[in-house]
Amino acid sequence: MKILVPIKSFNICSTAINNYGDDSQQNISEVEFDDEEVGNGAYRSITSLLDIIVPILATSTSPVLKIGNKINIRISGDGRNVGRKQKHVILTMCILNEGEMVLNPTHQYSICLYIGKESYDSLSTVSAIFLQELEQLKTNGYKASNNTIWPVEFFFSGDWKFVALALGINAPTSNYFCLYCDCHKD
Ligand SMILES: [Zn+2]
Repeated sequence: MKILVPIKSFNICSTAINNYGDDSQQNISEVEFDDEEVGNGAYRSITSLLDIIVPILATSTSPVLKIGNKINIRISGDGRNVGRKQKHVILTMCILNEGEMVLNPTHQYSICLYIGKESYDSLSTVSAIFLQELEQLKTNGYKASNNTIWPVEFFFSGDWKFVALALGINAPTSNYFCLYCDCHKD
């Protein structure tokens, strides 16, 4: 698995990480990672995950994916507090063609995990990692090892905060607040 789906690491911009607030000198014991590890993130490629998932979905007894189907990939993410000082953000993908099976956590595949804040800057660093791969999959589809080309459509979701961050919306009270359209609040 280490060879087929390698996990690579990256560093998220340190200014986005070290902003723990005024009481950053206190509660050192609650920091669960060495300073060296803070700011580090890990990711694995969407294509390498598809290399494993698609053959399973296409060859099961009642195949979820049939030749010619479009693979609907949903990207999502969320942050959480770890102790009082650390924040972790995870990004996941799932194959929506599986229907209600995606509600099962084992059908959610993590693609990125980093220690840091849920912020526009951090997310843009992360998106830069996946940009090329997403572009490639969107434009050319996913090419399986047997040379089958599967068209890919991407979906994106998350809680309000995550979606708003990704779209660059400031607050629910701002002039252009809507996640779905460009309507003005007036
Ligand atoms: Zn709207």
